[in-house]
Amino acid sequence: MPNIPRNWRSCEICKTIPGRVNELIKGGDLQTLPLPEAVSQLLVVATPFYNADSDTSNWCLRKCPRCGTFYSWGCSYEWFFNGAEYEIQLTRLPRREGRRLERWCLAAAAAAEKKFHDDAMARGAAFLSHDDRVAAKRDVSTLLQGQRQGFDISFAVAAALEALVAYAGKPHHRDSLVFDLKWFLEIYAKKNPRNAGLLLDLLRGVVAAPFPAEVVELTRTCSKGQHAQQAFAPDATSKVFVEVDCATFRES
Ligand SMILES: [Zn+2]
Repeated sequence: MPNIPRNWRSCEICKTIPGRVNELIKGGDLQTLPLPEAVSQLLVVATPFYNADSDTSNWCLRKCPRCGTFYSWGCSYEWFFNGAEYEIQLTRLPRREGRRLERWCLAAAAAAEKKFHDDAMARGAAFLSHDDRVAAKRDVSTLLQGQRQGFDISFAVAAALEALVAYAGKPHHRDSLVFDLKWFLEIYAKKNPRNAGLLLDLLRGVVAAPFPAEVVELTRTCSKGQHAQQAFAPDATSKVFVEVDCATFRES
């Protein structure tokens, strides 16, 4: 059994992190000492609904994977004419306060997922119910945003793809289909091989022969159950849809 440190003072990760530390960057230049290297090892609670992205003002609760000590992580971000300015503040929390915030974060993420799911279902079993294709496309964007936040959107992927293909039936919208499908690969299929398999099966239903060789290869890789990161190097995903000719999509 691994030796779990009793508190942050005896933890290899936490003992290198001050109780309160900040990092300030103006126009790409570091104005303070950088955050200790160990900060990158702290987990984000209720990820990916919460994250430690610093390209916007943001907050999350972080937790040491070794001793369980909690930290409040916050980023204030402002954009000025001479570039971005952002400050990250990290504060070690008393255990009781950390546990309270952990329960709060997990509940907030669960509530957001339920609301997202209920909203998506309320929009109709099929995105196709929209006569207005712009509205359908907007709903698809909302769906993908949900996946980014960590919600499983599998229940709606078939309908969303159908809607996108129907939308692309208008000649000047064909390019946007390729663009949207690429996003489905990037955001949804990349998540895991199960998602990839579902998406690629559905694509077979909407893409006319000849089926692009790169997609066939991708399907085979997915079916081996390999880890998503191996199956979907960013270059591979880009290549697949850049090389799909719009003309291979059926008229709808
Ligand atoms: Zn620790």
